Amino acid sequence: MAPLAIGASSIKSMAETSSVNESNLLNELGVRTFINAAGTLTYMSGSLMHPEVVKTIKDSSTHFCMMDELQDKVGESIATMVHSEAATVTSGAFSAMTLGLAGILTGNDLKKVEQLPHLAGTGMKSEVICQKSHDERYNHAFLNTGCTIVTVETIEELEKAINEKTAMLHFLNIAADKGKINHEDWLAIGKKYNIPVSIDIAADVPPVSNIWKFNDMGFDLVFLSGGKAIRGPQSAGLLMGRKHIIEAARLSAPPRGFNVGRAHKVNKEEILGMYVALKKYIATDHEKEWSQWESEINFIENEVKNIKGISTKIIIPALGNITPNLIISWDPAYIQLTGKDLRENLRNGNPSIEAGFAGLPLYPNQAGSESIDPKIAATLKGENRVTITVWMLQQGEYKIVGKKLKEAFTNALV
Ligand SMILES: *Cc1c(COP(=O)(O)O)cnc(C)c1O
Repeated sequence: MAPLAIGASSIKSMAETSSVNESNLLNELGVRTFINAAGTLTYMSGSLMHPEVVKTIKDSSTHFCMMDELQDKVGESIATMVHSEAATVTSGAFSAMTLGLAGILTGNDLKKVEQLPHLAGTGMKSEVICQKSHDERYNHAFLNTGCTIVTVETIEELEKAINEKTAMLHFLNIAADKGKINHEDWLAIGKKYNIPVSIDIAADVPPVSNIWKFNDMGFDLVFLSGGKAIRGPQSAGLLMGRKHIIEAARLSAPPRGFNVGRAHKVNKEEILGMYVALKKYIATDHEKEWSQWESEINFIENEVKNIKGISTKIIIPALGNITPNLIISWDPAYIQLTGKDLRENLRNGNPSIEAGFAGLPLYPNQAGSESIDPKIAATLKGENRVTITVWMLQQGEYKIVGKKLKEAFTNALV
């Protein structure tokens, strides 16, 4: 009889815990919570922090410390883990992109730090070059420094585009297969002209080895999200790379004010949370995690695949969000549902479930397309497909997802 074994003090602490229980507060406020079978989407609150991260946030919240000292110590330790000269915790990969570029532009010149984002007449460089297929919407982070983006397609065009205003050569890993220039050649041109080379790997973990791979390759700046697969705070990320650039980047970041990065504040709890998340993530048994994902996705597939009119396939994206994706499609002659109907059924069910869009590239258009770009959402109406992922599911939820999908399809059978 477990309740009898609990002493008075632990009952009290349980009551205290439940009084600040977040899901109750979400309930109280009438905010819908759901099973996330869609993935690490920012507008769906990304990922759930690792329990050790939550504990770290709680435990560190009752102490004061000096923010620079904390960033110094955490940064040093993270740099060792990720094989870079230096690292700092930022308010996400996007923040790392702005701050890293700011560091390149200003160096340690405080006057320049205050001048950003107004580059004209300051002597600062003002252009970032990337491949046309790598110029996605997150590159807005670079515009925040006052820089413009110049796009090229070939090595010849790249060499022609480089000039005295070129601050950085940027590479988008998730689009590595879309460009004509590969990582090695991009890096080699940076070395040849002595221009820093950066890479956005925000959503490229797993595999875990990507955390250090691009530092090992010689990229001068590497940008990574903390609130995706790593399960750190949603509002955290990492800037990794050359020591002198990261030192300079921090001049544009809090705790200092009067700079372009003052709004990129990360509190001490999140800095520590990011650090612990990274440590935990690196220590995870990734093979075991992968086989767990496979068995859960197979379970869900088996629940639906024999329903009349259904076809299923499991795909693993080659780049970005590399986890098994179950694509379920169906013949409207047998099942009267659109993909949109199905997602709405699942959303309105109990428990509520969010499923992913199918038929769209996983990146970059899909994240937030339903809430941000109504034009894209409209084009999805008639598609008889959904995507299911299991990497953001909590223990046992795969069974609920399988059951609810089966119910929804069975109910819609003609
Ligand atoms: C998610 C993402 C970002 C932004 O990362 P945040 O950590 O949310 O700031 C940037 N680039 C790519 C490719 C992403 O997928």
